[in-house]
Amino acid sequence: MTREIQVYDSTLRDGAQGEGISFSVEDKRKIVKTLDDLGVAYIEAGNPGSNPKDMEFFGGMNGLKLEHAKLTAFGSTRRRGVSVEDDQGVRSLLSAGTPAVAIFGKSSDVHVKEIIKVSLEENLAMIRDTVAFFKKNGREVIFDAEHFFDGAASDEEYAFRTLEAAAEGGADWIVLCDTNGGSFPLQVFQLTGKAVQKLGVPIGVHCHDDSGMAVANSIMAVEAGASQVQGTLIGFGERCGNANLSAIIPALQLKRGWRCVPGDRMTELTATARLLAEISNVTLPPGMPYVGRSAFAHKGGMHIDAVSKAPSSYEHVEPDSVGNDRRILMSEVSGRSTILNKVQPYFPGLKKDSKEAGMLADLLKEMEHRGYQYEGAESSFELLVRKRLGRFKPFFRVEKFTVIEELPLENGRVSSSALIAIVVDGEKKLSAAEGNGPVHALDKAFRLALDGFYPALRRVHLTDYKVRVLDPQEAMAARVRVLIESTDGHMCWSTVGVSTDIIEASCLALVDSIEYKLLKDVEARIKAFI
Ligand SMILES: [Zn+2]
Repeated sequence: MTREIQVYDSTLRDGAQGEGISFSVEDKRKIVKTLDDLGVAYIEAGNPGSNPKDMEFFGGMNGLKLEHAKLTAFGSTRRRGVSVEDDQGVRSLLSAGTPAVAIFGKSSDVHVKEIIKVSLEENLAMIRDTVAFFKKNGREVIFDAEHFFDGAASDEEYAFRTLEAAAEGGADWIVLCDTNGGSFPLQVFQLTGKAVQKLGVPIGVHCHDDSGMAVANSIMAVEAGASQVQGTLIGFGERCGNANLSAIIPALQLKRGWRCVPGDRMTELTATARLLAEISNVTLPPGMPYVGRSAFAHKGGMHIDAVSKAPSSYEHVEPDSVGNDRRILMSEVSGRSTILNKVQPYFPGLKKDSKEAGMLADLLKEMEHRGYQYEGAESSFELLVRKRLGRFKPFFRVEKFTVIEELPLENGRVSSSALIAIVVDGEKKLSAAEGNGPVHALDKAFRLALDGFYPALRRVHLTDYKVRVLDPQEAMAARVRVLIESTDGHMCWSTVGVSTDIIEASCLALVDSIEYKLLKDVEARIKAFI
């Protein structure tokens, strides 16, 4: 039988503690959906006790059906000197209503004595009571043994007693944490092996990357018998980050044959990692193992020649196996399979070696060079392809637009107005609108101008707006990429615009958003007619 490893993602909790990371409640929902689609077993989504925003999030998630993952809330053991029933944090954690809870407790004698300043025995009681309380309340309990590896280095016997206390309380999982990220693979291997033998409770591992060894340490723990791996899908987290699951999942599944996600989802790994980066508004490092843009990019002439004869000559796994692409840099060969994957749903007849596929590959390359990226903006890509292949009839044309900013008025607020001129079926329409920012004003002006022609646009609103200043080495300095997400209450779509001018970039993304909605409405009408 295939060995199963439970993947536990903490992007929304530990990941959110990474510098520069902040999620809206809407972002969090999207991330939960994205991770569930990938097929992870647990999604740790926050600490309801420490944070009212997390509590609101859990409230909104109640009743949401996930296909693979169990939503997990995170919190601490009860405080000292308080009964578990009366502990505020414990009660918040319970009221989050998740099927699973992760409870962290101290496993290092030094922390017990010097940080929380309770007796060693009281700490064991805190762990035991809290775990037992959640078991009594029908939760699956994951006990995170904080600072376990450092604790074991200081007083191994006590570190193991904390694990035993969790086992006595009835914990379903005991997770060994390398909280400071300073442990070495061999040490992790030996101590995990010992815990697996001693405890009779499934063991997990939670590593941080402060020594650059979180992936290696996690894999060594699994080699020693751990059956749950915690981390964050693209590795971000406190300080230097958490164990990078997008490297661990394929390593265990493709190379060791241990199942981490359903087999058919492995090819979604790259798209999922990139989508998560987009939602988080971070740039995925190009050299990220398996999922980075450069993970299978070949530049040297000899390498290209060798790879075209035998891909394994310079690739440790098939790029397709994780949904990534081999990229032959500076050549027209790159990207065709990516394009084909994307385009085939609406152009099923398109062949990889056709003239059109070549044309689209060139187009994509040109657009990427200009700073476009379509991983998080599939709708703009569809429009681009349709336009280039002559399968798009414009709904309107923007003749010109003007945005005026009035800088601080008496009440200190900035006022923005937008004027636009559009042409629909030869008819020119002008409109003007005010907004609380230039993009808002522009969006309103568009709606006003188009309202008489396309009333369906009234249901559309923007749900997200993100701006990224592109790296100077990636494109020209100071270009900005604007990503817009829209919804009409039924479907959600995302579009992108790039320019050196933020207003123009926003306008391009807005126009795409409107065109896409109109296009889909026409398609739906044709479908209903057929
Ligand atoms: Zn952590």
